[in-house]
Amino acid sequence: TESCLKAIEGAGALNAFVHHTPELAMDQATAADARIKAGDAPDMCGLPLGVKDLFCTKDVPSQAGSRILEGFLPQYESTITSNLFASGAVMLGKLNMDEFAMGSSNETSVYGNAVNPWKVDDRQLTPGGSSGGSASAVAADLCLAATGTDTGGSIRQPAAFTGTVGIKPTYGRCSRWGVVAFASSLDQAGPMTKSVRDAAIMLETMCSYDPKDSTSMDLPVPNFEALMTGDIRGKKIGIPKEYRMEGMPSEIEKLWENGAAMLKDAGAEIVDISLPHTKYALPAYYVIAPAEASSNLARYDGVRYGHRATLDAGDGITEMYEKTRAEGFGPEVQRRVMIGTYVLSAGFYDAYYNRARRVRTLIKKDFEDVFAAGVDAILTPATPSAAFGLGEMTDVDPVQMYLNDVFTVTVNMAGLPGVAVPAGLDAQGLPLGLQLIGRPWEEGDLLSSAYALE
Ligand code: GLN
Repeated sequence: TESCLKAIEGAGALNAFVHHTPELAMDQATAADARIKAGDAPDMCGLPLGVKDLFCTKDVPSQAGSRILEGFLPQYESTITSNLFASGAVMLGKLNMDEFAMGSSNETSVYGNAVNPWKVDDRQLTPGGSSGGSASAVAADLCLAATGTDTGGSIRQPAAFTGTVGIKPTYGRCSRWGVVAFASSLDQAGPMTKSVRDAAIMLETMCSYDPKDSTSMDLPVPNFEALMTGDIRGKKIGIPKEYRMEGMPSEIEKLWENGAAMLKDAGAEIVDISLPHTKYALPAYYVIAPAEASSNLARYDGVRYGHRATLDAGDGITEMYEKTRAEGFGPEVQRRVMIGTYVLSAGFYDAYYNRARRVRTLIKKDFEDVFAAGVDAILTPATPSAAFGLGEMTDVDPVQMYLNDVFTVTVNMAGLPGVAVPAGLDAQGLPLGLQLIGRPWEEGDLLSSAYALE
């Protein structure tokens, strides 16, 4: 813990940690030390972690990267951080992220962007987003692991951009209680770590059935580490042809082929598969996610949480809402609220929102068919490119940024587990990741295949 705190002090330029909790960390570390000495050391005992700012942590600022939650100190602890603390984990502080987890580059954060520790010459790169601070901190050894959340790829894309491991478990595996909501039917938390084994250990602690989250699944949590044998002999790994996007860089294609060859060498059978509705996933996601966000974000009204605008004489409650939300939300969040409100409005509900939900069912069915045909896991690239330069995408148009999620959103739409594993370097020496998608509730099996790839 001490050496991490020191490393954090020296790494201010990465802008990964946005709230520091050194005293809490030392207290937790001392308590963990006593537990270890007493012979009672659960899995996470004494392990210094970073926590994404989206998690509510008791008495510690939890701003979800937004100005609107300025000054918000939760009076409660999220279920996931409670689980981690009960297992002896140490919290070093809160990590930078895109505002309300909307983004793919950590550039929509009120704290300013986080920076990727990987560099090409002097070009500063994004660590990805929205869990950009988590990825940057893990990759730069500022903590042993971090929590992340993933609504459309926010764990897997930053993991791929920083050469780290990130798993989004099956929807319902980890409690969403105390995690600031973005799009509730898609949001899942998961660990971001340096290795597949670390991910297995941390995931087990994070998962639990939680009656406080109505979508939490009442299933036993297996010992993922024990299931992670790396023995994939006889497993069927599917390669979906629809993920071979037009204009895909040859190095991504090569990485994908190498990954498949590695799994084949380890005894898996590689099969070509089809997920025919893939091309509709991104447009449907960018209807469903903003729709849910516009509803979830209605609660930030200047009354109950965080920031409230200074009012002029004569202003009433409507002006208070308007001014607070105009000042408190950044441009990307405002864009999503407007899109979401539009697609949910009476005249357009059927044309957009309902249609997107029907598409979602078809996407889910694509996966169900493939798994029913005996496929155990699906291998795809994690991202369409390596980390891009800071500012390079924000200046173009928002749709360019949305295209980053092309390989990851399908997994959230179908509620499946997906893991990003570092798989090599591109020509510039930047990390690239591969993604494995698994059957629902079979994270252990998925981690085992990921282990074989690592
Ligand atoms: N980049 C996607 C978005 O902006 C995904 C974000 C996420 O997974 N939280 O919506």
